[in-house]
Amino acid sequence: MSDDFSLTFLGTGTSVGVPVIGCDCATCKSSNPRDQRFRSSILVRAGNQTILVDSGPDLRMQALREGLREIDAVIYTHAHLDHIAGFDELRAFCWRKAEPLPLHGTESCLETLRNMYGWAFFPENHNSGYVRPDARVIHGPFHYGELKITPLPVQHAAVETIGFLFEKGNSRKVAYIPDVKLIPEETLQLISGVDVFIVDALRPIEHGTHFSLNEALAAAAQIGAKETWLTHLTHDYDVELVSKTLPPGVQMAWDRLKLKLELS
Ligand SMILES: [Zn+2]
Ligand SMILES: [Zn+2]
Ligand SMILES: [Zn+2]
Repeated sequence: MSDDFSLTFLGTGTSVGVPVIGCDCATCKSSNPRDQRFRSSILVRAGNQTILVDSGPDLRMQALREGLREIDAVIYTHAHLDHIAGFDELRAFCWRKAEPLPLHGTESCLETLRNMYGWAFFPENHNSGYVRPDARVIHGPFHYGELKITPLPVQHAAVETIGFLFEKGNSRKVAYIPDVKLIPEETLQLISGVDVFIVDALRPIEHGTHFSLNEALAAAAQIGAKETWLTHLTHDYDVELVSKTLPPGVQMAWDRLKLKLELS
């Protein structure tokens, strides 16, 4: 549908995914599909535009699961491996494109991609089998068709990290911040009262570079979104149990969840 505006969770897991290799905990042994979490990533569809947020190590399986064949751009939150390590899987999207694939990120994020996947960025890369990137530094808001994308600087770890605000006409506004320890004042102002807030809630207990559940709930209360979805989750949650304790409007996201953003 050309007037569609939606967001699909391709992954809602932390950097090791869920289940965790070699773990026998109840979550990792669970048969509940909501306990199967690929590494965090989303897909935003707006009109004819399909935007992938991050290319994590599960990208191949995420794309196959969603039947994803084409993307118009990748936008990166930061250069941690759970958000970039599927870079080479972008090849399949380049094979069906005449033009190079736009990759948007901060200067430091693109620099890391260039260092890690240098062959793709060399000017003499005319190999039709390779990823053919069109690296674009994010300096401020930018558009794809009617979709407006605004970077949301946050503090997360040593690497420069951003989230994104997605807006299209008078549809519901969405803020996506999968990795965060502190949301600075200027970003809070950008997302205050947003319709949908998607945020890191790594695990119940505190962590040095991610929101815990309580920190995520405090941010949700501060921002006052109509809907808040928790993501980037570890195996430390009993989804059914925790879901019953969440305040109204706050829910744990799951892989394949699709949010419709168009107002009907
Ligand atoms: Zn486990
Ligand atoms: Zn990270
Ligand atoms: Zn992460």
